[in-house]
Amino acid sequence: MTIDRRSFLTAAALAPVAVSAGGKVAAAAPGPRAVPMVGRKAWGAMKPRPGREPHVVRRITLHHSGVRLTDDAQAPARVRQHQQWHMINKGHVDIDYHFLVDRRGTIYQGRNPRFRGDTQTEYDPTGHLLISCEGDYEGSGGQRPSGAMLKSLVRLMAATAQRYDVPVRRIRGHRDYSDQTDCPGSRLETLITDGSVAARVTETMARGAWVARRLPTAEGRALIRRIESL
Ligand SMILES: [Zn+2]
Repeated sequence: MTIDRRSFLTAAALAPVAVSAGGKVAAAAPGPRAVPMVGRKAWGAMKPRPGREPHVVRRITLHHSGVRLTDDAQAPARVRQHQQWHMINKGHVDIDYHFLVDRRGTIYQGRNPRFRGDTQTEYDPTGHLLISCEGDYEGSGGQRPSGAMLKSLVRLMAATAQRYDVPVRRIRGHRDYSDQTDCPGSRLETLITDGSVAARVTETMARGAWVARRLPTAEGRALIRRIESL
């Protein structure tokens, strides 16, 4: 079954109020849990150019930036640099990824998922929801994925898997589709191939409905300022 945002929210609004055996009205059934993200305006995104191509999300594909990030305060600047690289150097219509996650677990809103993302390798990203983790996770020299990053990543995957009706077996790494890259790095890819990402996403979805929700712009900007002054 495909659940679109409207039916999702309507279903939550219509959820019956729980009544205890004693007839007392318990707290109303909770709506979907929010997975907060910093909106494009708040992190200072450039506007996309015309020419984005619509697609239908059928799988979720994990990436890493491939560049070590040791200073968390630099994460928002990195996100802006990725967009500049993709749009100005590569000529793409927008930042390649639909979501980005930093090592503190901050989620950044990227390209609108209604539109196909972009890649610098040979696979066709049509139908892929692209999520990129900030940092280098390849090999023994790579960084260890932080707990905060993995927690946000799993929740984001749960929210988007529910939103786009993607089975957990279709959560894979970039290297599963391309021979030209190590992305998302062996330290993240292992968590996909050993089933731990699927298990955690399944467990998270079993706890209820999740929805990726943009923070109000002022709140998002305040969060970015806090990160940048770490
Ligand atoms: Zn990649």
